[in-house]
Amino acid sequence: MLDLLLPRRCVVCGRGGTQLCAGCREDLPRIEPPICARCGAPTEWPVERCRECAGRRLGFASARAAVGYDAAARRLVHAWKERGLRRLSAEVAQLVAERLPPPEVEALTFVPADRGRRLERGHNPAERLALELAALWELPCLTLLDRTRGGRQRGSTAVERRTVRGAFSSRAAAPRKVAVIDDVYTTGATAAAAATALRAAGARRVDAVAFARVLRRG
Ligand SMILES: [Zn+2]
Ligand SMILES: [Zn+2]
Repeated sequence: MLDLLLPRRCVVCGRGGTQLCAGCREDLPRIEPPICARCGAPTEWPVERCRECAGRRLGFASARAAVGYDAAARRLVHAWKERGLRRLSAEVAQLVAERLPPPEVEALTFVPADRGRRLERGHNPAERLALELAALWELPCLTLLDRTRGGRQRGSTAVERRTVRGAFSSRAAAPRKVAVIDDVYTTGATAAAAATALRAAGARRVDAVAFARVLRRG
């Protein structure tokens, strides 16, 4: 409701007009090749594994994101997720569809929100993004995963890894090839846990797609 009544301002720079102005939209950092074929991290040259993902059991075949998670992307994601500016879901999906090729899958699914967060926000951003992308990519969007215990993790990497392991269960059989949608790829632990649950439910290949990706330096 507030979304309709408030004067529109760019959630990144504050300029009046639209929720994401053309300049800020254009400036969202691109993730361009060369990248790691598996986890999608920018690399010096094309690689199959990188420092970020080598030696990790990730469950997914590939992870890709549309934008680097810099300060501007962070402001956009915050407005989208926490302030409940739902119209931004369409904007975010558009950016993903512009910057990433459609995954070669039979269906999309999404990382489920834990109950507390969903009630607090009134929506699951990952689900909304998946629904918008499903329309753009002309793929079905299936609800396949449940959370087995609370807590979308915040905080340190170590905590995230610990919390996330075995965090999902499947509620239905998964198609052979499926892409799991999330808002932000941080360490890959969430996408990996989702992929593991989807594979246990019958998927042979899982690709992860996120709007933004944390980029590690050096
Ligand atoms: Zn702006
Ligand atoms: Zn990698």
